[in-house]
Amino acid sequence: MTLESLERIRTYSVLINDRRIPQLISWYVKTLQKAIDIIWKNVGWKIVPPRVVESKNKLSVKISLKLHQPTIPKSSSFKRSLRNELMKDNPYASHWVDAVIRTAYSIMEGWRKRYLRGKARRVKPRVTRGFARCKITLMKVDYEKKTIRITLKPYEYIEVSYADAWFFERVNGWRIGEVILKDNRVLIPFKKVEAVEINDIMVWDCNELELTGFSPKVGFIHVDLRPLITTRIICQGRRSKAQEIASKKLRIGRKLLEKYSGKERNKCSDVERKIAVQIVRAFPSAMHVFERLNKEDMISKGRNGSKWLRKRIARISWMNIIREVKRRAIVKEVNPKDTSKTCSRCGCKVKDPRGQIFKCPRCKLVIDRQKNASVNIYLKKMGFPHCCKWWDEVVKPLIHHELWVGVALMGTKPMIWSPMKGDLMAVKPKAYIGLSKPM
Ligand SMILES: [Zn+2]
Repeated sequence: MTLESLERIRTYSVLINDRRIPQLISWYVKTLQKAIDIIWKNVGWKIVPPRVVESKNKLSVKISLKLHQPTIPKSSSFKRSLRNELMKDNPYASHWVDAVIRTAYSIMEGWRKRYLRGKARRVKPRVTRGFARCKITLMKVDYEKKTIRITLKPYEYIEVSYADAWFFERVNGWRIGEVILKDNRVLIPFKKVEAVEINDIMVWDCNELELTGFSPKVGFIHVDLRPLITTRIICQGRRSKAQEIASKKLRIGRKLLEKYSGKERNKCSDVERKIAVQIVRAFPSAMHVFERLNKEDMISKGRNGSKWLRKRIARISWMNIIREVKRRAIVKEVNPKDTSKTCSRCGCKVKDPRGQIFKCPRCKLVIDRQKNASVNIYLKKMGFPHCCKWWDEVVKPLIHHELWVGVALMGTKPMIWSPMKGDLMAVKPKAYIGLSKPM
């Protein structure tokens, strides 16, 4: 048993009617854009030629995606002059200027990273949303009275109370982080660090149709994602149609687009959240291990276009599920390299595994592809080597010990039916396809 710390963050908003807030936001956005303008002007561009790198006695040429690479000015003299420039006719407390500078730098850093990955153009970032991110030094929280005092100017404050808020019970005893002002609302992030006892490890293999879980204590678990993926595909189809209309008839198209993207997305994210909640509830003291999904994979288009699209759509669901699990439990990620190509029993690597069944040429193991991958992820996480004896002792008795969990979208209400509480039951997958009506 080990203890891990889990940081929980919940953000709630409080309505506030104060004319000074829109004024502050418009000043903040204007100043932020000004700060970005100044930083942008001073961005240095240098040419990075291809380099020859030596590793493992082999020479290879490394070419960066971008020949011209930006460097963001960070010297203290530059920062001082930037601050002085922004402080000119600044009506607010000087900490607000510091808050602006910090946000400007994080926007610029984000742009630089995206640019180097080829995801952003060489265009100055623009602030389009109206918001103001507060600094902790501008806030004074009274946890007794449940109020937050935000400094605008020296001796001028806005007081926000969350004493009567509906969420108060949920965050009792939590600490408050930096608030964000938006429109007529104050977004308050509540934080709490919890110590979580870890008694078990649950690994999850993400594949197109399901999540396959494995733990030596429980066995194999299949979470069916088919209804969810179907909904996403329908959603995608409708959206692209609406997009087509939007390109011709602006007003109707935009309305359609809004309607479809909002509605379906809510439905999907609701199901994804429920799956995550079920997973965490079923294994309360487990650490959940997922494969690291790198975003780069999304770009490379496979041989088969439609399969690539299906996988991409499934990936959105996995990411959302993982994110929701992360909010509720300890999540660790492992490198997914070779997990589907390696025999989980003897460690033999198969070059091009095909089909649903994995067959090992060395030890003649025949196993479901997804189960094989999940056992591999388990071994990777634990740092165990492949061992036939361990496999025969631990995994073999569990091979037919499975739990099927379905996600059914009934009408407009998504619901989960799960026999997770109580004994494990092996349900034939076909038995519940009929039950789950995809839209
Ligand atoms: Zn083998």
